[in-house]
Amino acid sequence: KLENATLKAELGRATWKFLHTMAARFPEKPTENDRLALKSFIGLFGRLYPCGDCAEHFRKVLAKNPPQTYDRNAVAGWLCYVHNIVNKRLKKPEFDCNKIGDFYDCGCGDEDKGKEK
Ligand code: FAD
Repeated sequence: KLENATLKAELGRATWKFLHTMAARFPEKPTENDRLALKSFIGLFGRLYPCGDCAEHFRKVLAKNPPQTYDRNAVAGWLCYVHNIVNKRLKKPEFDCNKIGDFYDCGCGDEDKGKEK
């Protein structure tokens, strides 16, 4: 079947949105188990992402830049960084990772149960 760049881009946008939103909601004080879950998820994601050549390239990016899972900030910063590596390869503008702030709000209405916010 022919490649359809529109669908490929749509999948990419939806996926990045999901991944960044997940990072923005990662615990500020993760347990070892939280950290392991994220590492496992990213590893499996790299295997299962449905665009095969995207996944293949992303696995190489991951091999050089393993997920930083220390806390929420580390995860969000790491993901922004690897997304920028993909942006660069696709000749897209670099995103300023200092401006991530509240850009990814899940709208779930149950923000950080039991925490200050
Ligand atoms: P996207 O890159 O989809 O980004 C969506 C929005 O996120 C942007 O509009 C911006 O507001 C924000 N954003 C941009 N950069 C960052 C950042 N660094 N951190 C946080 N937010 C940011 N497509 C291919 O053609 N070839 C590939 O090899 C390929 N590999 C991919 C690998 C992965 C893991 C994923 C998830 C997608 C991949 N894609 C690939 C799709 C590609 O990255 C884009 O999603 C798609 O081209 C649509 O681009 P876009 O310009 O709408 O912005």
